[in-house]
Amino acid sequence: MPRFRCPDCCCGPAVVLHPPKGALPVCSRCGTVMERQPLVKPVPLAVFLAVSSALVGLSIPALMGPPAPPRPPKSETLA
Ligand SMILES: [Zn+2]
Repeated sequence: MPRFRCPDCCCGPAVVLHPPKGALPVCSRCGTVMERQPLVKPVPLAVFLAVSSALVGLSIPALMGPPAPPRPPKSETLA
């Protein structure tokens, strides 16, 4: 569903309208042509996809790879 918000009455809620094709809805309060709002913000979605894919890429070698051989403790002590 397309959502529109008036740029002048900026703090009001976005309204769902069904304007005729090719026409822009007009604010009923001030008469300004309203701006269309995207349903899904593209930037957070891209960030979420990047983070999730990175997590999967990091976790797969840890799960599938052979366990690392235990290292002998170093004889030298840390001061
Ligand atoms: Zn308005």
